[in-house]
Amino acid sequence: TWGHVRAELQKTVGKNNYVNWIEPLEFSSLRNGVATFFVPTNFMGNWVSRNFGEQIIHLLGKNGEAVSRVEFTVPAISSSRKASPSQVPTPANSAEGTKEDSELPGAPLDNRFTFDSFVVGKPNELAHAAAKRVAEGGPVTFNPLFLYGGVGLGKTHLMHAIAHELQSRSPQQNVVYLSAEQFMYRFVQALRERKMMDFKELFRSVDILMVDDVQFIAGKDSTQEEFFHTFNALVDQNKQIIISADRAPGEIKGLEDRIKSRLQCGLVVDLHPTDYELRLGILQQKVVHYRKQYSDLVLANGVLEFLAHRISTNVRVLEGALMRLFAFASLVGKEITLDLAQDCLADILRASDRKITIDEIQRKVSEHYNIRLSEIIGPRRLRTIARPRQIAMYLAKQLTSRSLPEIGRRFGGRDHTTVMHGVKRVEELKMLDNQIAEDLELLRRSLEA
Ligand code: ADP
Ligand code: MG
Repeated sequence: TWGHVRAELQKTVGKNNYVNWIEPLEFSSLRNGVATFFVPTNFMGNWVSRNFGEQIIHLLGKNGEAVSRVEFTVPAISSSRKASPSQVPTPANSAEGTKEDSELPGAPLDNRFTFDSFVVGKPNELAHAAAKRVAEGGPVTFNPLFLYGGVGLGKTHLMHAIAHELQSRSPQQNVVYLSAEQFMYRFVQALRERKMMDFKELFRSVDILMVDDVQFIAGKDSTQEEFFHTFNALVDQNKQIIISADRAPGEIKGLEDRIKSRLQCGLVVDLHPTDYELRLGILQQKVVHYRKQYSDLVLANGVLEFLAHRISTNVRVLEGALMRLFAFASLVGKEITLDLAQDCLADILRASDRKITIDEIQRKVSEHYNIRLSEIIGPRRLRTIARPRQIAMYLAKQLTSRSLPEIGRRFGGRDHTTVMHGVKRVEELKMLDNQIAEDLELLRRSLEA
């Protein structure tokens, strides 16, 4: 029967899908309405289940098998992989051929988080380019890739996008994505059940490892220790590792120095806070999506621009606001106007009202460089003063919604072209001068705190 079903799937799912996802399935058993298949990796199981599960059930039914559910299991490591050098005795493992804890430890991926749905703008272009590079799956050029940035800026999205792409390029590879928290959970569980050898073997058999929100293991000593060993073992085998955190490696408190320096020796890229253009781009993309669901809704001009201006915290909040707005408008059967948005999103708008002011920026910058506040807005052109002034202008452009002329006014009545020149200069310097890049990062963090 499976042969028939496969033949039918070959016609319906397309050649690539068939070769990548259906062909590697190995029919195992059919019992009590549950059809079980072997798959090479957990990820594949999840993917096939989500994307083709219904179809497989339907086709099996059409071919006379009453099936209510399909299951995908990964055969035990010892039977599917090359025998490991240290043949670990795994007592319960021999008879059945499948065993729950031989499954790869990864967490399921979100199908919406792909490169296609990721909007690229200035604040995230470097991170995006690095992620793309890794997703090509060529020789490992930087290891690890370390992505960092504030909440809701797209770290998890990018990691899932890499995993999706790597998996569809080469489904045989073990791509494992999990949060640092899940890593710890697995680790503690293995300790408790005295299965540390299994744990080690499992993680070391991974081809690409992604650990999200690694700041979570800061201060958790034994988990850090194990993470460090896993990390080193994989790097030694030239396996790609991708890590994310909410801040740069050096700034994670409670993380061992040797781990920090290990994390820094690959490529470290950050996702900057979104700017207006990026937020607008993301909203526009989401609207295209929502239109399919709410085809009869009218969206008035200026609503998206308004949201992009006013909700500058994180993308998740922005998305949430838009979703609520569509749902609300559809419920009350009204056009989506500015008024409606203001009504329906009052709480979100109020919460994101805490804005960074130019005053704050000037104060922080003058403290940081140890110059007087009056110098920042004053006329002196001395480098030691002019440079911090340009940095303050740059931050004002980045972190507030003030226009160039407005910023000029607040910097002692300077012309908007002077501000523009300053902003450009700092953008260049940021690439050339590590010290300046670091200063900017520190200032930004302390302003956003
Ligand atoms: P993080 O892991 O950095 O906290 P996420 O990756 O979970 O953030 O992103 C939060 C939400 O915002 C997700 O729904 C994600 O799809 C969306 N998002 C973030 N950045 C972008 C982007 N550049 N384009 C499209 N969606 C984005
Ligand atoms: Mg995340």
